[in-house]
Amino acid sequence: MSILKVARMGHPVLRAKARRLEKADIRSVAIQKLIDDMIETMREYHGVGLAAPQVHEAVRVFVAALDAGEEDAPQVETLAIINPEITVIGSDVVEDWEGCLSIPDIRGRVPRAREIAVRAMDRRGDRIELHAHDFHARVIQHETDHLDGVLFFDRMKSFESLTFLDEYSRYWNKD
Ligand SMILES: [Zn+2]
Repeated sequence: MSILKVARMGHPVLRAKARRLEKADIRSVAIQKLIDDMIETMREYHGVGLAAPQVHEAVRVFVAALDAGEEDAPQVETLAIINPEITVIGSDVVEDWEGCLSIPDIRGRVPRAREIAVRAMDRRGDRIELHAHDFHARVIQHETDHLDGVLFFDRMKSFESLTFLDEYSRYWNKD
């Protein structure tokens, strides 16, 4: 496995619409290696999600630490999500902090749907359906946006909350 170079804001690949993958593509050595490398790259840079365009590959794949368990038995693991289709559930919108490995050292508050259902394929090319709310729903919406060339800045209602990481730690992260 290898750690991949992460594209930063301004690179055109981050603004391109990524292409869907067929089952045969997903099972190819190239895509399986891409997924392994994306997981290693995400961990190296302490990300919670990473989309293929962020490593210069315009295909509809992202990896993220998500809850893959049942409602009563949550189990967080790193999953590869391919060709995701999001359906928003309900009308709740929540605003919270986001960062992005392609926009280093900056945080901003972004409104997102609280609850979503996701139809996608897994790394074997099998159909899966996920249900997510709050933090995991936020991660999935952020990563799916990358596949359409959308960055979290585009989703912000105002730029007043934009904050460098040092100032975020100093003034905003009260955890
Ligand atoms: Zn991002």
